[in-house]
Order: sequence, then C-alpha cells, then structure tokens
Amino acid sequence: MAVIIDGKAAARKIHEDAKRRTAVLLEKGIKPCLAVILLGKDPASVSYVSAKEKALAQAGMDGRDLRLPASTSEAELLALIASLNRDSLVHGILVQLPLPRRIREERVITAIDPAKDVDGFHPVSLGRLVLGQAGFIPCTPHGITALLRELPVPLDGAHAVVLGRSNIVGKPLAILLSRRDINATVTICHTGTKDLAAITRQADILIAAAGKPALVDAGMIKAGAVVIDVGVNRVDDPSAKKGYRLRGDVDFKAVAEKAAYITPVPGGVGPMTIAMLIRNVVEAAERAG
Ligand code: NAP
Repeated sequence: MAVIIDGKAAARKIHEDAKRRTAVLLEKGIKPCLAVILLGKDPASVSYVSAKEKALAQAGMDGRDLRLPASTSEAELLALIASLNRDSLVHGILVQLPLPRRIREERVITAIDPAKDVDGFHPVSLGRLVLGQAGFIPCTPHGITALLRELPVPLDGAHAVVLGRSNIVGKPLAILLSRRDINATVTICHTGTKDLAAITRQADILIAAAGKPALVDAGMIKAGAVVIDVGVNRVDDPSAKKGYRLRGDVDFKAVAEKAAYITPVPGGVGPMTIAMLIRNVVEAAERAG
C-alpha cells in the first residue's frame, strides 16, 4: 500500500514561511498585495478565488477582490490590468482562468507586468523558466516539484512521465523536472501518444494532468512508482451534498495498492498550488520593496 503524500502538511510549511516573510515586510511598511480578477460566477472559479483570498488573509497579506460581470469586454479587462500594473500598492496580479471565450486569454496574460506575474503564465516568465533564469514559476508545477523533493526517493536519473502538455501544468512541469537541479529524464504524453500505458508503465514518477477522471488505472503504473495526481474533475454524485464529487485523473484505490507514494484528490497538489501562489506574492513584494 502506497504512502499517501500529505499536500496540506507540505503546504502549511510554505504558508508559515510566507507569513514570516510578510511580517518582515510589514515592519518596513510594505503589505504584500495580490489583485485577483474574476469574470463571471463559474462555481469552480469562485471557489478557487475564495480559497486564494482566504490564504492571503491568513498570511497577513492584502487581497484586492475584483469580481467583474461575465459581460466585461476585453478592452475593459486590459484597461484594469494596465491600472494595476501602475499601482505600486499591488505586487501581484492574477486573472482567474478560464476567461469567457470572446476574450483572448493570451492578450490578457501578456498584458500583465512580468514583475507582477505571480501565476507565472506570462511569456517572459515561461521564457525565463526555459532558460533557467530567476522568475515566477507556475504554481502547480512548482508545488509538484516541491512535493517530490520531500520524498525519500531519488529524482536524479528517474524516468518521469508527464501526462498532459498544457501551458500551465504539463509543459512547465516537464521543463522543471528536466533541469539539472532535479535531473529526471522526462517523457511527455498527450492525446497523440500511441500506447499510453506502455509508456506510463516505464515511469518511476508518473504525473497525471489530463483532466480525465480515473484515466490512470493500476495496469498503467509500475510497482513502486511515485504517482502525482493533478486532476480535479467534478463527477456527478447524487448522494453527495453538492451533487458532485472531486475526482483525480488516477483511480486512487487501485493505484494506491501498487504505487510507493501517491497524492490524494483533494489534499494533494491543490494545497501546494495555493501555497506557491502565496510564496510568489511575498517574493514579488520583496523584489518591489
Ligand atoms: P488541459 O489544458 O485540458 O490539458 C490536458 C492535457 O492532457 C492535454 O495536453 C491533453 O492532450 C492531455 N490529455 C487529455 N486526455 C488525454 C488522454 N486520454 N490521453 C493522453 N493525454 C490526454 O488541462 P490542464 O489545465 O493542464 O489541467 C489538467 C487537470 O489538472 C485538470 O483536471 C485541472 O482541473 C487540473 N488542475 C489542477 C490544479 C491543482 O491545483 N490541483 C491546477 C491546474 C490544473 P492534448 O494536448 O493532445 O489535447
């Protein structure tokens, strides 16, 4: 039976560190501040934004809560970002994704000042990541590598298989894992991958970020592997209070029988994503101060 990786406990340590660093900044008269922009009322986005704002408050930081109607135009959103870029009291800017389809996500992300790009999605941040330069690292991949570093398993030379190639998870994660400080050998899989199971079975570390509930079953993993489940999927369940349950991309019960380490959903990668965001905000404030 696998050891269940406690993402909440790991995240707590990062929050405590951020709180300490925030206290130092407060003494200098600097209050780290994240502006959070949310368009519309998508329930998942609303709950992510609320969790981020709660974490900011707990760290002693300011959260500027900018909830706009779904009908907000791209021009209005860009004008708001421009004003936040100029605002010296705002250290980080986060636009909750996904945006309504008529708004060009790429234009919006690129409009954020890279010095305030605490999500790490700006082309400048991603370029720095590729080049190994200091910059903001996207929170979910950063959180995953932090969890992996805490495990008593060798990462150097390990074969890591990343299932998914999105700009926010799969691609940056593959880059981080292959950097010299981790030194894993990385394979990226996607919908064009032939015989997915044959590849995932070779993984010493398997990271599932496909957004498909229970895609990874026990037959797809090597005995003793580390399995990181990034997926957050709402699956209908009339017996649940909310009418749905959160499921990962991994068939947890079956895979936990075979893996050495596994993250649960919820309670694995999710808390680390928020913790890394908070760390990025304090870092942005330190750099600005
Ligand atoms: P995404 O943009 O939809 O990307 C999914 C990736 O998985 C794509 O590259 C896709 O391949 C690949 N894929 C999908 N089905 C596949 C299959 N059957 N076989 C092989 N590859 C497959 O998703 P994302 O934004 O990266 O998010 C992935 C999951 O992580 C979602 O459930 C999301 O909610 C969750 N997530 C969690 C956190 C957290 O903090 N816990 C943060 C971010 C995301 P193609 O490129 O070929 O389409």
